[in-house]
Amino acid sequence: MELIDNRCLCGAEDSRVLFPERIDWSQVSAYEFSARRRRRVQHYRLLRCNACGLVRSDPVLSDADLAALYRGSQFLYQQESGFAARTYAALVTRYLALLPAAGQVRLVEIGCGNGAFLEEMLGRGVHTLGGVEPSVQAVAHASERVRSAIVNRCFCPGLFSPETFDVVCAFHVLDHLRAPGEFVRECFRILRKRGIMVLICHDVDALVNRVSGEYSPVFDVEHIFLFNSATLRSVAESCGFILRGEGRVRNTYPLSYWLRYAPIVQGFAGRLPLPIQRIPVTMYAGNIYLCAQKE
Ligand SMILES: [Zn+2]
Repeated sequence: MELIDNRCLCGAEDSRVLFPERIDWSQVSAYEFSARRRRRVQHYRLLRCNACGLVRSDPVLSDADLAALYRGSQFLYQQESGFAARTYAALVTRYLALLPAAGQVRLVEIGCGNGAFLEEMLGRGVHTLGGVEPSVQAVAHASERVRSAIVNRCFCPGLFSPETFDVVCAFHVLDHLRAPGEFVRECFRILRKRGIMVLICHDVDALVNRVSGEYSPVFDVEHIFLFNSATLRSVAESCGFILRGEGRVRNTYPLSYWLRYAPIVQGFAGRLPLPIQRIPVTMYAGNIYLCAQKE
């Protein structure tokens, strides 16, 4: 595996080190690039840009290494995917009113995993669905209703024709990319006039992450850029988008899911009676969203 330099999106060179690299390279495998895996504290050197405040990993693995790791990543979140899908679908549905009234809605999700969100959107006035997902295993877990709509590969410029979609969604994708600016520009290109982009990512400056420091799950070998609401807005606006909405995401998951991230009670969670483990709990978990429109 090969490490390459990673500059800030704003081009400034002046940064400060948040944490030095903490990676056991002999342990880095596709498993470490699987969402919702059992986590160890493992991250690249982390820097914060003194000019724009964006947090980034530097140096990072090359594009070819990352593509191979995500392609081989495991699908470990069947149960949680339905919960996340309903949260995301409720958010996106709120913004469908921004689209031109007449016409059929064409939506694509980049990084769609097993397509749970796409399925959720089937019943919400969306006419045509598309998905892009690099993980072979995740796509194999997609239901018959959406699998044929998913392209099993990494998203890249030119994959779709210009002005193909009315809605482009990417949830917890932007932080994993080597070139998030290029990604957002490509979202702009494939959207039709007045189309919307909805992004969700970690908020590096959320209270929960500031308190946890290096032990926060956001400081992870999977994450290359880490945004806050200001840097997320900036990347969207620099690509020509008009901001239509932003805020914190309220996530709903079973109690057992939340307890996995609580260091002290982690081991105890599995011993709770199943009906208690399955109780849905809604809270802010340090995630932010942004909705922006192409005029
Ligand atoms: Zn910067």
